[in-house]
Amino acid sequence: EVVPVMPAAPAPGATSDGHPVALLANIGGPGDVPSALRHGAEGVGLYRTELLFLDRGEAPSEEEQIAAYRQVLTAFPGRTVTVRVLDAGADKPLSFLPPPGREPNPALGRRGLRVLRAYPDVLAVQLRALARAAAGTSAVLRVMAPMVATAEDASWFAAACEEAGLTCAGVMIEVPAAALRAADIAAVAGFLSVGTNDLAQYAFAADREAGALAALQDPWQPALLDLVAMAAAAGVPCGVCGEAGADPALACVLAGLGVSSLSMTARALPWVRAALARHTLEQCRAAAAAARAARTPGEARAAARDRLPGLA
Ligand code: PEP
Ligand code: MG
Repeated sequence: EVVPVMPAAPAPGATSDGHPVALLANIGGPGDVPSALRHGAEGVGLYRTELLFLDRGEAPSEEEQIAAYRQVLTAFPGRTVTVRVLDAGADKPLSFLPPPGREPNPALGRRGLRVLRAYPDVLAVQLRALARAAAGTSAVLRVMAPMVATAEDASWFAAACEEAGLTCAGVMIEVPAAALRAADIAAVAGFLSVGTNDLAQYAFAADREAGALAALQDPWQPALLDLVAMAAAAGVPCGVCGEAGADPALACVLAGLGVSSLSMTARALPWVRAALARHTLEQCRAAAAAARAARTPGEARAAARDRLPGLA
């Protein structure tokens, strides 16, 4: 197979009949920006800011955060940059934000937004740093919260963002309850972004680090597609930023489910762009319906591919 050659300024992601699907990059910091640009990212769909906070005795200062955020924002003039606020806890414990006590099941404990609700000053500094970093740049800053479980979590986060002068607050859909009540969350959030890595973990009660449970982590699981469909139908723009979007066939299925942007590791972008460009929205919808009607991940993949004749 030959890697599709990227033109200097790639056309925005779209199906062959012109239905737009924004193709965005997942980044861990300014160091990932060159690769995102080289692979034709239209913007950033997931900036995992926790890398700034890991392996240190205290939170990074507001000034240090501003410097990092500004480097990313200035690299995407006029483009969307979606920053996820600190996603600590579970596999990413931080010594300066200790959990309330012994946590026998850290993945089910205080993590993501739950940590920030316990330490609201840490969130306030991060949001202020983001607002200050964006001032004077033309990037379209969006901020989103990880591990939201309820619409009340989403309202709390939106209020914190508003307090900092940030108007575009979104919510990651990583907990099955949040997918089930996506419409309630959409009433208080500007956008949704499905984190398929954690959503699969929690939907199937299967640790994402446990190799022996990989079959339950398969993003072609029809139950996972059902949850994505619920989020995509909630009434606000809904993206996918888990690794599922990096599979070209699955990317077409997600577009067919109504997802409006896909964010992934940058090197997958050309493949996904090419797969979308070879299929109509109707073909993507047919593939999505066939995948959801299947009973196993293997059958879902085969049924979708049957309806996506342009795939290699
Ligand atoms: C996810 O859970 O799918 C996600 C994008 O977030 P992370 O992989 O950083 O947990
Ligand atoms: Mg996650």
